[in-house]
Parts: sequence; C-alpha cells; structure tokens
Amino acid sequence: MTRTADQLIASRPAVTRQIPLLVLGAGAQPDAERGVSCPGELPASSDPALVGRAVAARTELGDRAFILGHHYQRDEVIRFADVTGDSFKLAREAAARPEAEFVIFCGVHFMAESADILTAPAQRVILPDLAAGCSMADMATYSQVEECWETLEDLGIAESVVPVTYMNSSADIKAFTGRHGGTVCTSSNAKRALTWALSKGSKVLFLPDQHLGRNTAVLELGLGLDDCVVWDPHRPGGGLDAGALQRATMILWRGHCSVHGRFTVQNVADVRARVPGVNVIVHPECVHDVVLAADQVGSTEKIISTIAAAPAGSAWAVGTELNLVQRLAESYQDKTIVFLDKTVCYCSTMNRIDLPHLVWAMESLARGEVVNQITVEEQIARQARAALDQMLALP
Ligand code: SF4
Repeated sequence: MTRTADQLIASRPAVTRQIPLLVLGAGAQPDAERGVSCPGELPASSDPALVGRAVAARTELGDRAFILGHHYQRDEVIRFADVTGDSFKLAREAAARPEAEFVIFCGVHFMAESADILTAPAQRVILPDLAAGCSMADMATYSQVEECWETLEDLGIAESVVPVTYMNSSADIKAFTGRHGGTVCTSSNAKRALTWALSKGSKVLFLPDQHLGRNTAVLELGLGLDDCVVWDPHRPGGGLDAGALQRATMILWRGHCSVHGRFTVQNVADVRARVPGVNVIVHPECVHDVVLAADQVGSTEKIISTIAAAPAGSAWAVGTELNLVQRLAESYQDKTIVFLDKTVCYCSTMNRIDLPHLVWAMESLARGEVVNQITVEEQIARQARAALDQMLALP
C-alpha cells in the first residue's frame, strides 16, 4: 500500500547506532561510484530539498507506482520502499501488484529483469540507475555458457546434466536454463533445487556462483568436495579434462560474489577473539572454509529471522552486505551485532541506487517520461519464465 507523505517523513531512519569500521579507500572520490546512465539532470546529493522532492514525487505517483527495495540498499532509499526483501521475494511482490503501472526496482539489473519477466506486459519495470549491475551475474555470459554446453555435448554427457542457475544471473542465462529443462534457485531453496535436479539427471551444471553450489551440495546434500569440479570459462575446455567432467556430479561455474567472497577464515577467528561468546552467521555465497568456520549459514531472509528471534544480550557477527548489517544493528539494540570483517564492504553496484537517482526516476515518471525501463525480449522472457516456474513448482 502506498504511504502518505507524513508516513514517509515519519519513517525516516534515525541513525542511532553505528558499527565501528575502518573506512576503505578514505580520500577517494565518491563520485567515481556514481552511475552514468541518467539522461537529464540528476539532483545533487547535497540538495537540502532532496528528501522533500522525493516525498512529493512519491505522493504524486501514488498507487501508479510500487517501489521495491532489496535488503542491501541504502537507508535513504529503503525508507521509500513499499516492500523490502531478497531478489525472489521482490519479484513475487511485483507480480502480485498488477494494478501498479510502474514497478520501481531499487536493486540491481538481474532483479529488475526477473520482475519484468514475472509482471504483466502492461507494467513497466524501472531501474533508477542502469549502471547498477551485479559482478557475479556478469561472470556467466550467454556465449560462455553455450560453449560449456557444447563441450558437454561433445563428450556425450549433456543429456545427463541438468542446469540450475542462481537467481543472480542474467535473463539470458535463465532462458538457457529453461531451454535445457533446468530450474532457477535462490539461496533459500538451493537444496530443494539440487535434490530435484539430481532426481532428473546424474549431474548438475550450477551457474554462476560456485560457492552457493558447493556449500549446498556438500553441506546439505552430503556430496564430497571431490564430487565437485569448477568450470573456468576463461580456460579452454573449462580447464577440465574429459575424465573430470565425466566423474563429477556438480559442475560449478567459476563465479562468485565480490562482496561475500571477501570474508575469510581469519575474519571469523578475529571476531571470536574480539567479541566473547559471539555467534557467527554467514551467507552461503561465502567461500566453503568460511562457512565451515561459522556457526550458522543462511540466506539473507534466514539471517534476518535468526537475529530477530535471538535472545536479548546475544552477540552476532554477520557475514553479508554491510547496509543490511547496519540496519540489523539499529533495529536490535538489545543485541550485539557486528560486521564480520573490520573493513567496510558495501556492494558497490547496489549502492549506485541512491536518493538522487530515485528522485530523478520518480520525478521523470510523475511528469510522464518513462526512464530506465528494463525490458526482456519476448522469447528470452518465455524461456526464462519456464525456469522460474520450475522453481515455483519445486517439491
Ligand atoms: S551482493 Fe554480490 S551477488 Fe548481490 S548484487 Fe552485489 S555483487 Fe551481486
């Protein structure tokens, strides 16, 4: 439901608690991280009228617009979100609002693509900054994945391979997966997706995050590390010989999240020494050894619900994106909540969606100018939808 201007102002986050962190790249030019794809005039972030302009534009758009905010977005953007969530929850929320003419997606490009695939044809999905991509999704291009599949065909094993792609992939890769009878998965349902895939075939090609694939296969399905091989798209034949591909159960794509991939086993040891009795919880996009060193592993939604349900006085070190960890620390002041690393680690592409871009997008829409619309070509959308529908039908 769209909130009133008063509600929007009242929801302004009060920054009452800061996690002590070292600032990475102090002295750098912050504008270097600004997006570049906003034709027209982008409001200055220092404009004192910015929040008022955002409230006015949001109020003017009313129920014509529905704003989605991913958990990793900045506070200044999240306060204008009608709903917050992980990528899949947000895509479903968008699909459940057919009356909204505009779905403004405060997240990254692959999420807006999924929203476009799942929403009605008349709805328009808007990404406030087209430069908000995802380095993990970019690690698996369509031509690279096709090349991999041709190798599997040449070896005569493609028929026994079921592709499973993480939500964090482009529409092209989801379409490839749908075309070959596979499924999309999220970090919440990866175990169910792999169980289903291995009931259909004897091998899985897991795209594009090797860590989620390995952590799920080994820790949740009981496979061994030697059942997994890593396909490197930058090496001939993926850097693997025929025997390795024939023996493997899991063919993991060599992709990773540049944010979660930064956490180390040393970070876990350091925080245990620093914070007595701390519980370490990390996202399954972290490397396998970090997950082994942690106390718990779980999707973004699981991290949030675990900390919400934890007793007052408990201490948590959280290995996921910093905007979310800071909001958890503000929300649960009866618990000690620290970032797993001591160094600042935002997702730089998520952070591209800032208040100036959101204001620019809303004001443009309010005056009838549709900007930064994300459109997935029809055939790609149909094939990607098959993989998304398969995920929804997972037993
Ligand atoms: S946190 Fe990682 S997976 Fe998520 S958008 Fe950023 S780079 Fe991509």
